Amino acid sequence: MTTIIEPFRIKSVEPIKFTNETERKTILKDTGYNPFLIHADDVMIDLLTDSGTSAMSSKQWAGIMDGDESYAGSRSFFRFEEAVKRITGMDFVIPTHQGRAAEKILFSILGGKGKFFPNNTHFDTTRANIEYSGAEAVDLLCEVGKHPEEKADFKGNMDLDKLRAFILEKGPENIPLVFITITNNSGGGQPVSMENIKGVRKICDEFGLKFFIDACRFAENAYFIKIREKGYESKSVLEICRELFSYADGMTMSAKKDALVNIGGFLALNDDKLAMNCRNVLIVTEGFPTYGGLAGRDLEAIAQGLEEITDENYLHYRIRSVEYLGEKLLAAGVPLIEPTGGHAVYLDAKRFCPHIPAEEFPGQAVSIALYEKGGIRACEIGSVMFGKYDEKGKLIPPPMELVRLAIPRRVYTQSHIDYVAEIIIAVFNERHLLKGYKLSYEAPMLRHFTARFELAD
Ligand SMILES: *Cc1c(COP(=O)(O)O)cnc(C)c1O
Repeated sequence: MTTIIEPFRIKSVEPIKFTNETERKTILKDTGYNPFLIHADDVMIDLLTDSGTSAMSSKQWAGIMDGDESYAGSRSFFRFEEAVKRITGMDFVIPTHQGRAAEKILFSILGGKGKFFPNNTHFDTTRANIEYSGAEAVDLLCEVGKHPEEKADFKGNMDLDKLRAFILEKGPENIPLVFITITNNSGGGQPVSMENIKGVRKICDEFGLKFFIDACRFAENAYFIKIREKGYESKSVLEICRELFSYADGMTMSAKKDALVNIGGFLALNDDKLAMNCRNVLIVTEGFPTYGGLAGRDLEAIAQGLEEITDENYLHYRIRSVEYLGEKLLAAGVPLIEPTGGHAVYLDAKRFCPHIPAEEFPGQAVSIALYEKGGIRACEIGSVMFGKYDEKGKLIPPPMELVRLAIPRRVYTQSHIDYVAEIIIAVFNERHLLKGYKLSYEAPMLRHFTARFELAD
């Protein structure tokens, strides 16, 4: 059978408000051509992020009603703890309100001036929490991961030679732990192989270092291992998850991704002393150890989400539907990062509209056009988000100009995705009409959230 069907039926629906192109032109003008400033009701297909945007299952909603809101020793905590242990095998499980809260706790204990944290690619909140502690965050991604047009199975891998050299250069005593992010979100949602995870473990053992996983999309990564890595074809995704966590000493998690909930996170680890220290910070910043920053009902929904996420019918549909969008676009000649990652398709705006220079934000121009043409909201990841200025005020663009189409989990059907492909291809076929933009307002930090634009000339 070649048709992949959504492995669920729809029990509850949320209407989409339709707008026309004329209305959207006005909306864009009023919001300074920044999709972040558009009222979500005015978006027809929202691909801004896959974080916290999942559709929960009927069982998760039932868990919301069934949550135990006891301050201490809640039944929902024990169900949550068991669900995390079943997948990760970790000894200690600490609930937090989001992934970044788990990071904040960990790095406030292990970070500080003179410390270094290597990763394949740090996600921006991880980097921010490390730098906030005074320590340095270092990306050691494998070479192939840096080239959008090169195809490889595991473009999220850590460069193991660089990791060893880095540890020798900085001294193992200055590296509290080594991190790896699965899948590599900032690098296009590309997976990490089991072999690479084992390789990191081996190097950590050589130097007596701890190894943690930023596990936000662990199930998507495990599914890529199953379909792409030799020796894992006949293993279940749950077995693969257990194996990959068995090589780690701990993990941080944003439950807003692969736990299929709208809010939540956790920290899980094996070291009892470090766990005690983490719990002590947790009590000050998040809450009592059996609820962290969450309500009992949230813990219940996470526990159920973790049971559902390793379902291979779901993962097959998930990975295949992202790939399906990528295939349609590639067939029409639309340039993108290949192969498609687990949670998103990344358009390559540099090749999409080569007539727009980096100073006029090609990624922004594409994302504005997608909204104008079809009411689709995407996220620019290029000179708006990461551009810096030299001392003369000239833009230093980042290496890539991308537009991310992140696919929320279980939210859109195949016809929504067909519509998205149709709009992107229509914009691509008229790409010579796209115009550049200039900034009319920018904040000193994280400017992409609040910036305003106008046409460049
Ligand atoms: C989302 C994310 C985080 C942070 O999680 P929040 O729940 O948004 O705080 C950390 N790392 C990665 C790889 C992520 O995708």
